[in-house]
Amino acid sequence: MSDTAPAKNRKIAPHAPPASNFIRQAIDADLAQGRFAARAWGGKPGPAAAHAGAPADPAKIRTRFPPEPNGYLHIGHAKSICLNFGLARDYGGACHLRFDDTNPEKEEQEYVDSIIGAVQWLGFDWGANLYYASDYFDFMYRAAQCLIETGHAYVDSLPAAEMRALRGTLTEPGRNSPYRERSVEENLQLLRGMRDGAYAEGAHVLRAKIDMASPNINLRDPAIYRIRKAAHHRSGDKWCIYPMYTYAHPIEDALENITHSLCTLEFEDQRPFYDWLLERLAAAGLLQRPPPQQIEFARLNLTYVVLSKRKLIQLVEENHVTGWDDPRLPTLVGARRRGYTPEGFRIFAERIGVSKSDSWIEYAILEDCMRENLNEFAERRIAVLDPVRLVVDNYPADQEEACHAPNHPQQPELGKRALPFSKELWIEREDFVEIPPKGYFRLFPGNSVRLRYGFVVKCTGCDKDAQGKVIAVHCEYDADTKSGSPGADKVKVKGNIHWVSARHAYAAEVRLYDRLFKTAHPGKSSPPPQGEGRDRGGVDEERGWLDDLSPDSMKIITAQLEPALKNARPEERFQFERHGYFIADRVDSRPGAPVFNRAVTLRDSWVKQKE
Ligand code: ATP
Ligand code: MG
Repeated sequence: MSDTAPAKNRKIAPHAPPASNFIRQAIDADLAQGRFAARAWGGKPGPAAAHAGAPADPAKIRTRFPPEPNGYLHIGHAKSICLNFGLARDYGGACHLRFDDTNPEKEEQEYVDSIIGAVQWLGFDWGANLYYASDYFDFMYRAAQCLIETGHAYVDSLPAAEMRALRGTLTEPGRNSPYRERSVEENLQLLRGMRDGAYAEGAHVLRAKIDMASPNINLRDPAIYRIRKAAHHRSGDKWCIYPMYTYAHPIEDALENITHSLCTLEFEDQRPFYDWLLERLAAAGLLQRPPPQQIEFARLNLTYVVLSKRKLIQLVEENHVTGWDDPRLPTLVGARRRGYTPEGFRIFAERIGVSKSDSWIEYAILEDCMRENLNEFAERRIAVLDPVRLVVDNYPADQEEACHAPNHPQQPELGKRALPFSKELWIEREDFVEIPPKGYFRLFPGNSVRLRYGFVVKCTGCDKDAQGKVIAVHCEYDADTKSGSPGADKVKVKGNIHWVSARHAYAAEVRLYDRLFKTAHPGKSSPPPQGEGRDRGGVDEERGWLDDLSPDSMKIITAQLEPALKNARPEERFQFERHGYFIADRVDSRPGAPVFNRAVTLRDSWVKQKE
C-alpha cells in the first residue's frame, strides 16, 4: 500500500463502438447479400408450414444462447451471452434464450431458474423469445420419420461395443452395419416400437445414413435417437426416446429462424452434419431455407480458474467452497456475491473479443475490467481492516467533531459525508512502525502525517504488551490543520493515512477473497499448448488440480468501519479507500448489520508477488 490516494484521476472514456471481428464480418456480408431476407417469421418457432404466408422476419438477425440446464452458468457462459445478445442488439436483431433440455437425466428446474436469473443479472432481455428444446420433441420425431422415408436414416440393432468397432478410426474408414439396409417399413415400425417403450435401453438406436467411409467421423452414420426410460423435467413420462444433441441442436436453430448459430470450436467438425441434416429436412419441405449458419469461436479459458462443469461440481460437493454462490467460484452467482458487476463482464467480453484459436486470458484482465467499472460509480468509504488504536493525547476526551470526506473524487455531485473525529481512533497496524525503513512516511516517533480529511498529527510513541506487540500509538494533533479550513495545508507532510473514530466505528465481518487457485493452470506445471486450451473433462492432469487450491483464498476478519457503512444495503458496492472494492453481502447481511465481501483489490497484488 502506498501513502497516496489510490483513485485514478483519469477521465473515464465513453465506451467505444464494438470492434469488428470475423463474426461481425460474416454477418455484414450476409446482410449485404440479403441472404436471410426471404425467411418468414410467424411470431413463434415452427416448421416451414407454420411460417408459410407469414411476413419476412422483422429481426435482421437472430442469435441464441442455448444452455443445457444441467449446471450453473459461469464466466465462460458470460462470454457467450454477451456475444450473442450483444450482436442481436447491435444489428437490430433478436437473441433467444433457449434451454437445450434434450437430456432427461441431468436436468432440473433449479438450473433453469438460476440460468434465467443470471442472464437477467447480466442485463440482457430476450423479450418473448424464451424457448425449450423439449417443446420440439414432436417435430423432431416427425423429422426422424421423414429421414427414414427419404432413405436418410435407419434403425441399428448392434450392441454398442460392436457399433463402436465398426466406426473405424481417424486413419481407417468405418464399415457398414448389417442393419443398414433395412426397409423403410421395418425402420418405421422399429422407431414406433422404440417410442412406445417396446424395447430395452440400448436395444436399438436410430442413425443417420450418410457415409461410413467419410474422413469426418461425425458423418459415419451418427446416432440421432436413443432409448432412455427416464422422466424429463418438462415432458414427464411422455417420451422414452430422446434425440441426440447433434441432431436436436440444428433443428432447434432452424425452427427458431436463427440466422447465425454461434458455438465453440469443438463443434467445428459437427458443422458438416449440421448442414447435411438441415438440407435434407428443407428438401423434404419441413424447414425453411436458407438454413442457419453455424460459426465457431474459441471458448474462454481463464488463468487461475477452472470452468469445467465436472470440476465445479466436485468443488461444491466436496465442500472446498461453501456452495454454488461461493464468491471464489467462477459461477455467475458467485461473481455476483463477490461484487463483480454485469457492466464489468460486458466490458470484459468486448475487450477479449472473439477468435478462432484457443488461448488463455489472464485473470488480471477480468479484475481490471471490474475495477474500471467499479471505479466509475462506487462511493468511497473508510475502513480499517487491521486495526490498532491511535490516541490523540492533546484532544479532549469528551469532545468530538465532524470531518468531511467526498463520496467520489471524480464526481463532486455525489457530495460529502461527515466522519466523526474523537480522541481515540483506529488506524491500520501497518501505518505505524517504531523504526522506519527507508522511504516510510507514515507514523513513527517524531514524524507527522495527515489523518486524511482530518488533522495533521505528530507521533509521540506507543504502548506495548508483555510480548512486545504494539497495542496503542500516541500522537498530538495540530488544531489549525483541519482539512478544508483556511490555512490547513501550511504544515507540509508526506504521509496521509486513513482512520475511523473508535467510539463511532462499526465493527463488521469482512471477507477478504482472493483467487481460489494458487497457480495459473491448476493441475498443470506449464500452460497447455495452444489448441489444447480447453479446460474440459477429458484433458490429462499432470498432478491433482485440487492440490493447487490456494490456502489464502478467503480470510475472515473483523474490521473497523466508518459509521455510515452500518446502513449499507445488500449488494451496495463501495471503494474502501486504499484497500479495494467491497460489496455488502446479499446473503449474510442483516438490516443495520451488513457483512462485506472484497470484490477486488485496488491494484494487482499478484504482479508484485511474481516480481
Ligand atoms: P456441457 O459440457 O455440459 O455441454 P457447456 O459448458 O458447453 O457444458 P452449455 O450449457 O452447453 O455448457 O453451454 C451453453 C453455451 O455456452 C454453449 O453455446 C457453449 O458453447 C457456451 N459456452 C460454454 N462454456 C463456454 C466458454 N468457456 N467460453 C465460451 N462459451 C462457452
Ligand atoms: Mg455444451
